Amino acid sequence: MSATQPVQPAQPSGTQPKVTEREARQVAEAAREQDWRKPSFAKELFLGRFRLDLIHPHPLPADEDVRRGEAFLARLREFCETRIDGALIEREAKIPDETVRGLKELGALGMKIDPKYGGLGLTQVYYNKALALVGSVSPAIGALLSAHQSIGVPQPLKMFGTQEQKDAYLPRCATTAISAFLLTEPDVGSDPARLATTAVPDGDDYVLDGVKLWTTNGVVADLLVVMARVPKSEDHRGGITAFVVEADSPGITVEHRNAFMGLRGLENGVTRFHRVRVPAAQRIGAEGAGLKIALTTLNTGRLSLPAMCVGAGKWCLKIAREWSGVREQWGRPVARHEAVGAKISFIAATTFALEAVVDLASQMADEDRNDIRIEAALAKLYGSEMACLMADELVQIRGGRGFETAESLAARGERAVPAEQMLRDLRINRIFEGSTEIMHLLIAREAVDAHLSVAGDLIDPEKALGDKAKAGARAAGFYARWLPKLATGPGQVPGTYRAFHPGGHPDLSTHLRYVERSARKLARSTFYAMSRWQGRMETKQGFLGRIVDIGAELFAMSAACVRAEHLRATGAHGREAYQLADAFCEQSRLRVEELFGRLWSNTDDLDRKVVAGVLSGTYAWLEEGVLDPSGEGPWIADAAPGPSTQKNVHRPIR
Ligand SMILES: Cc1cc2nc3c(=O)[nH]c(=O)nc-3n(C[C@H](O)[C@H](O)[C@H](O)COP(=O)(O)OP(=O)(O)OC[C@H]3O[C@@H](n4cnc5c(N)ncnc54)[C@H](O)[C@@H]3O)c2cc1C
Repeated sequence: MSATQPVQPAQPSGTQPKVTEREARQVAEAAREQDWRKPSFAKELFLGRFRLDLIHPHPLPADEDVRRGEAFLARLREFCETRIDGALIEREAKIPDETVRGLKELGALGMKIDPKYGGLGLTQVYYNKALALVGSVSPAIGALLSAHQSIGVPQPLKMFGTQEQKDAYLPRCATTAISAFLLTEPDVGSDPARLATTAVPDGDDYVLDGVKLWTTNGVVADLLVVMARVPKSEDHRGGITAFVVEADSPGITVEHRNAFMGLRGLENGVTRFHRVRVPAAQRIGAEGAGLKIALTTLNTGRLSLPAMCVGAGKWCLKIAREWSGVREQWGRPVARHEAVGAKISFIAATTFALEAVVDLASQMADEDRNDIRIEAALAKLYGSEMACLMADELVQIRGGRGFETAESLAARGERAVPAEQMLRDLRINRIFEGSTEIMHLLIAREAVDAHLSVAGDLIDPEKALGDKAKAGARAAGFYARWLPKLATGPGQVPGTYRAFHPGGHPDLSTHLRYVERSARKLARSTFYAMSRWQGRMETKQGFLGRIVDIGAELFAMSAACVRAEHLRATGAHGREAYQLADAFCEQSRLRVEELFGRLWSNTDDLDRKVVAGVLSGTYAWLEEGVLDPSGEGPWIADAAPGPSTQKNVHRPIR
């Protein structure tokens, strides 16, 4: 096939609703949790207010939670060491059924479920530690457990289920039933407004029709959370709605098990619904509340993925240390060559900061004193990006061995280090549970929320003049009070935060002052951009992405310093923690400075022109001279509802 064949339309011939960009935004906006009842460190940070008091001293878990958590971690560790063969899972692209049964017996399906429903009742902190531990042996098992508990049936039921639903499903979820979360469809990825699966009311039931794609655990699941659209009618409010569905209900077919670049053991499928009857009692929350339920579930659910990234960082550090100290080239261990050393330092410092971010956000989630939805989103965004960088650097440090599979290394008599697998397994984290691009938008929306709530009507082209005048007055009052506060702050006063410079330790107070100053600069930049671009602000994705990335770095610096001081105060590796926090902050500050520079000096406008040229075919000549090995076929499979013509590959593990 020629490399320059004409572009085919991407749309399938199915029945997807046509959705404009504005409608897509409205759906996302309606699903957003709009209230802020508790303080939020990250929200304040984006407003230029560095509320160190919200995160320092580092919050602590209750003794009983620690005892219970540590006891489970000990049992899980033993299970991982004796009953999980990560290499076998990778080789056979399958988690053995006995391993899954063993995990069930251990209670690993119910880590976060309340003991009154038969679960272990672990805190978010210990749930995360457990995922990091098990994910280090087999990322596929980490993904299975996390998909079941962070986005599957237990969490939405805990938050939004009726008592009857909790009584019926939570004991099963805690012990035997694996669950899956079904939102994505062939034509519905980041944009749920296009959701085409329908749930049509019929007597006391709903009838579900449609096709769901990439359902993690779908192939082996016992229970499903399904997002489907209820048509609006006289008696029905309609809208995207969540249901708990028995995975072996008549009319459900798992048509295919998908295979990926990484996470080879994942039991991820394509699930078709054909006239599937679901009793109304299995609807979670109200009609139309489905997306809000999904997003609220993810508020803390998002922490499990970066927790596994922390585990990945720890492992990268271990291998980097062991290998680069013994591998000698050009007269010295490769670690002693500066170019390699810089990578090791990056991995060590970043792992420290990432653990600080995840532990702090998780502990705050357990305490429930602060609103941590932005912190969790930042942790997901930052953790997934940084873990990929760390794994990539590990591959580089390992040289040719980094590119070689563990199996091949072992076959020729070397240690079976799965560095390339780690890189492949981590890659999906930047795509699922909110891609990096979508996380940027989602967090940016919260970062500019204060501006929109006072000045939103002012820049909304659809608002009447009267509304605009009122908004103008409101905005004038807000900015008159807020803007002057951004001019000066404690970050300019030498000696502020001096508790973070104990004798004989690196000075972290200087980094906290930098964070305080940078938070104000960030807020000033956001305000300036809002006044410059007004209603077009939401289209400035390059700018917004950088604003969010700066916020992520500032949050990570804050968390790293607070953790270092916490470790010093409690006597555990305090001095070394200060060193790592200092190194991280120095590295992070360079990234922040670069990001600030690129807020206003970038190629965003030029890039837009290049994209227009690429899409119109102006540069198609550049693609000549190669062949495209891709097969034929549509870009997106047809997802028209109807009976399945495929074999059902569903195989619950009982
Ligand atoms: C291994 C795996 C497991 C998964 N597990 C599940 C699961 O259990 N349940 C489930 O429901 N789904 C699951 N998914 C789906 C996953 O959540 C989606 O892949 C993800 O939401 C992205 O959607 P998409 O792939 O359709 O990308 P698209 O939405 O088509 O996006 C393509 C690209 O465009 C970018 N983009 C899209 N919209 C915008 C925008 N407005 N602004 C800027 N950039 C944009 C995206 O970031 C991406 O880079 C899984 C996917 C995989 C591969």
